[in-house]
Amino acid sequence: MSSSDPMAPLTALIHHPYQAPSAFAAPQPGVFKASTVFFPNVAAMRARDWKDKSSYTYGLHGTPTTFTLEERIATLEHGTHCVLLPSGLAAVACASLALLKSGDEVLIPDNAYGPNKALTEGELAAWGITHQYYDPLDVADLAARINERTRLVWLEAAGSITLEFPDLIEQVRLCRARGVTCVLDNTWGAGLAFNPFDLDEQGLGVHVSVHALTKYPSGGGDVLMGSVVTRDAALHRKILLSHMRLGFGVSGGDAETVLRALPSIALRYHAQDQAARALARWCAAQPQFAQVLHPALPGAPGHAHWQQLCGAADARGGGAAAGLFSVLVHERYTQAQVDAFCDALRLFKLGYSWGGPISLVVPYNLAAIRANGWPAHLARGTVVRFSTGLEDVADLQADLAQALDRALPT
Ligand SMILES: *Cc1c(COP(=O)(O)O)cnc(C)c1O
Repeated sequence: MSSSDPMAPLTALIHHPYQAPSAFAAPQPGVFKASTVFFPNVAAMRARDWKDKSSYTYGLHGTPTTFTLEERIATLEHGTHCVLLPSGLAAVACASLALLKSGDEVLIPDNAYGPNKALTEGELAAWGITHQYYDPLDVADLAARINERTRLVWLEAAGSITLEFPDLIEQVRLCRARGVTCVLDNTWGAGLAFNPFDLDEQGLGVHVSVHALTKYPSGGGDVLMGSVVTRDAALHRKILLSHMRLGFGVSGGDAETVLRALPSIALRYHAQDQAARALARWCAAQPQFAQVLHPALPGAPGHAHWQQLCGAADARGGGAAAGLFSVLVHERYTQAQVDAFCDALRLFKLGYSWGGPISLVVPYNLAAIRANGWPAHLARGTVVRFSTGLEDVADLQADLAQALDRALPT
């Protein structure tokens, strides 16, 4: 239909001849939302390949907005290929599903992100995929568990909740020497604390990096998203095919939210790191806490490995770390007292996740989380994990002090 044909207003609202000029330049990229994507003709419809990012086929397979975010996340993580998923956990699931099949075994660190363990025990086990939990601080334990059925090793640096920093370089070297694919859950490092694809002078790196963009890339506590990044084209193709068959995709609006926050990620990460370290050091001097867990603290589990990998990562000096630390409340206090301490906090809100502007706190029952028993490097007591937001550190310290005074008398 040419623009001179008469068209009822109802139709013209849908098939309007006006096209806005395309040369629009502004700080934020455009937000495209689509299920359907148009093709100029049948030949183009048949010719286009959904795996080829030079054109578009269907909203689920990408829009200018999601392609743009994929490229930026690949850059953040020092990789070359990226797929986006509707949550960090979906990214974990997509990596495991793409790389494992019935009869395979997966090895997971005992301090892994809890829902990764639940996925493995609840879903992968039902499909005939077995698993073992290895000691994240003992490379020999990981080596001893690798067998002829091992197809995938999950890595986490630092580990969830207790924040042990593993000897990632030796773990990756071992996996590569034994021909096993290794996937790092890189949410803690966020692409900023270290380069997962270039860990040593020889350019040693993980095969795949998974990132809960929900945390630092989003920065707002208001969007769920995940990514799977690699430098390996064949692995990417495998992951992309599973991603497509499983129907994973993200909305243009959510992608926009992350694109809006990405330019400030390094500033936020650094600020939240500094706040967490200041508070961790202060907590180490409080008699109510038997142990403070933060990989940058001398004496913390895996501190030397953190120093080796992240110690020089920040131009300001002092290395880089996420804004997370945990305490082990002395075992002389009851669970009810520890709960009362968490309840007494005013600025630290009770809530899961991290990376947003508001500081958060969660008490954990470590005995119920660890498959292989209470680790020897941890004091007995109740674990409380803190994540720092962007509040003034002095106010956060005063909040901890008043809650300690009220709930945990010395
Ligand atoms: C939060 C988190 C995830 C999952 O992210 P969601 O978007 O909440 O599903 C995965 N791994 C780690 C280490 C996390 O902290």
